[in-house]
Amino acid sequence: MLVRPSMERGPAKISVKELRTGTLYAKDLEVAIGRLAMEEEWEPMGPTPMPSLTTLRSWDRKLLSRYTPFYMPFCDLCCLCTYGKCDLTRGKKGACGLDLRTQQARIILIACCIGASTHTAHARHLVHYLLEKYGPDYPINLGTEIEVEAPHIRLVTGIRPKTLGDLAHVLNYCEEQITHSLAATHTGQEGDYIDYESKALHVSMIDHVAMEAADIAQVVGFNFPKGDPNAPLVESGLGILADTTKPVVLLIGHNVCAGVELVDYIRKAGLGEAGTSVEVAGICCTSHDITRYTSKAKIIGPISYQSKFVRSGIADVVVVDEQCIRTDIPSLAASVNTPVIAVSEKVCYGFPDVSDEPVDRIVDMLVTGKLKGALILDLEKAGAVAALTAIRIAPLRRKFKAIPDVEKVRELASPCTYCHRCRRNCPSDLPVSDAVNAAKQGVLDKLADLHDVCLGCLRCESECPQKIPILSLMEAAAQHKIKTEKYKVRAGRGPILDTEIREVGSPIVLGEIPGVVAYVGCANYPGAGRDVGEMAYEFAKRGYIVVASGCSAMSIGEYRDEEGRTPYEAFPGVFDRGGLVNVGSCVANAHISGAAIKIASIFARRKLRANYEEIADYVLHRVGACGVAWGAYSQKAASIATGYNRLGIPVIIGPQGSKYRRLYLGRVEDVASFETYDARTGQKVYIGPAPEHLVYIAETKEECMVWTAKLCMRPNDTTKGRMIKLTHYIDLYRRLYGRLPDDLPLLVRTEADVPITFKDEVMDFLKGRGWKPAEVPSIDPTLLERLIRVRK
Ligand code: SF4
Ligand code: SF4
Ligand code: SF4
Repeated sequence: MLVRPSMERGPAKISVKELRTGTLYAKDLEVAIGRLAMEEEWEPMGPTPMPSLTTLRSWDRKLLSRYTPFYMPFCDLCCLCTYGKCDLTRGKKGACGLDLRTQQARIILIACCIGASTHTAHARHLVHYLLEKYGPDYPINLGTEIEVEAPHIRLVTGIRPKTLGDLAHVLNYCEEQITHSLAATHTGQEGDYIDYESKALHVSMIDHVAMEAADIAQVVGFNFPKGDPNAPLVESGLGILADTTKPVVLLIGHNVCAGVELVDYIRKAGLGEAGTSVEVAGICCTSHDITRYTSKAKIIGPISYQSKFVRSGIADVVVVDEQCIRTDIPSLAASVNTPVIAVSEKVCYGFPDVSDEPVDRIVDMLVTGKLKGALILDLEKAGAVAALTAIRIAPLRRKFKAIPDVEKVRELASPCTYCHRCRRNCPSDLPVSDAVNAAKQGVLDKLADLHDVCLGCLRCESECPQKIPILSLMEAAAQHKIKTEKYKVRAGRGPILDTEIREVGSPIVLGEIPGVVAYVGCANYPGAGRDVGEMAYEFAKRGYIVVASGCSAMSIGEYRDEEGRTPYEAFPGVFDRGGLVNVGSCVANAHISGAAIKIASIFARRKLRANYEEIADYVLHRVGACGVAWGAYSQKAASIATGYNRLGIPVIIGPQGSKYRRLYLGRVEDVASFETYDARTGQKVYIGPAPEHLVYIAETKEECMVWTAKLCMRPNDTTKGRMIKLTHYIDLYRRLYGRLPDDLPLLVRTEADVPITFKDEVMDFLKGRGWKPAEVPSIDPTLLERLIRVRK
């Protein structure tokens, strides 16, 4: 018998005055039940509450028969168990029977499990921390303009969360699913690559549920903006603290609890708001979240700035929490005499656990250098120690903030033997050796030019036989430039308002807003981060809705238009035509996919509760959204992107994404794969490649922009909508390739789709290709037979 978990609430207590059975007599019995199963009819329960690994398997198979996995193995050996290592080349199988394709799919699942477990553990910590502060009945209230507070949780679990305690319960389900998914990767488990992909899609869907739980918890628990389009503009950039004389605490990571305690301590100690007596700045998502707590905190920048900024010596104390933190932060910080405080069980760095020591004693040990770093798991204490240590150590560290002058740079570069090992070890093949060699002659321009494109990975330094501190030289050479790197980012606003969805639902679904473009994922871009800003600016200017999160949202702020404005200053923070929305940190990604769910539920009134297939089918065919993960692709980015995919949202990844080894590609030559049912007739109808792929790699920024415009097309576009989308596609394509796109005959359904601006040219082009108008120009597309209303 298949047992599915049911809707539960609790805890509950049952009191029995007197109980007599054949063998038992009890008086005043009280039974506590952790959670009480009960149905709450906010909407009838849908077909798939709390889906298991296989519940949505048929949806995945439909999706993957149109968008087939394409693998790019980096390695054709498997070393995962001690039967191996096994050679999987030329069709060979491993000792367990696994072939190369299935092994690749397994690696994808492992990556997605890592990503999902990271967000879920983050969510669990946040919820646990807030439960201790406020208790399980603390309400989830996102304000009067958000009734659908948790679209993912409602859609996947069937639960409408009302309290922090409900979120804890949702996380129980997520943890169970992640455990089952990861178990499937053990030697001798799953043997079919599509089933592995289905599990990857499943665990990535779970990832979005957990991210949503995490962000809702912190929005209500820390009183972050609740979908506010006018969230404040905050300062960002490597240069914002270059000349400060105040003590600086730098937060690195993703879990903002310690940062909140730090800001609270500064306030309670009478030191004013962050930035008054003590600067609070962040790198990575913690910086988004701390600026959602106080707009006086500052964003230094994305993950790739860690080594550069810590090495600069500006930070007097570094607090690391969790995720995407360089593992060499202790040594980088020690080189400039900056103490490090670790606050998460996941990142202990070998530091002694001083959580039970008094604050003053820990501060003494850090200021005097008896301790280079401390593990403090009591977050309130960590906040106090960080502030007090920064205040006491700042005057002692002044010399570490001094930037080497030209003469010093020349001296440090002088041992260079021009052996090129640095360049050979650089993942971006930057001309490092030329730059260091030029610096030997006192010419610093080449080093300064590297600053923008360098990922800060330190691989050049680790390979240099002369131990030249290449990154420090780069920083010194680029000082003038760095000081001008001061930008604005709109603080993460969190969810999209139901009222906004009501406004834009129709123009999005009809195609009159040409698309929703989401810039997500990590930095470490192939070029400078400003590329992401340039792309976001271009699409907002064209009237797309642009949304962003995490490192990408920070990088967007580093672009300036001709008037010197950052995109956040140039475009409003509304989820509407021409808006630019920063939802917040990585976990706020769930609000982007959640907006697509809300369009189906609020605008189109599709049933939301536990109705995943129908909502995903709706999004795939009607919501012209496209994700772009332009930078490196962490495991978290893998699960975020794969979660988008299950919901029917395509994702473009940058050149570095190929390292994740798998795409989901449509095949335009396979006409049948782009057929769906017309729900009005039950007939199968060709819908064209709209969208053509679910995961696609773009090699250049220009290619990415062209594909972004293309992947926003949907079969549901009206002729007016398709005409608008084609206008942008053709315009961008001509700019890049200087001609019309070859695939226009597949995307123009009838003459009415043809953009007026290009009418004659496009019609001539189409006639020359033997194009014929579609027989059924407008359909009600679905992949789900059960949604067919009338059968012919
Ligand atoms: S998991 Fe299978 S293919 Fe991999 S090393 Fe073990 S036996 Fe070989
Ligand atoms: S590895 Fe070191 S010595 Fe060799 S070229 Fe690069 S900077 Fe110079
Ligand atoms: S730190 Fe910069 S220059 Fe050095 S290897 Fe990494 S990307 Fe290349």
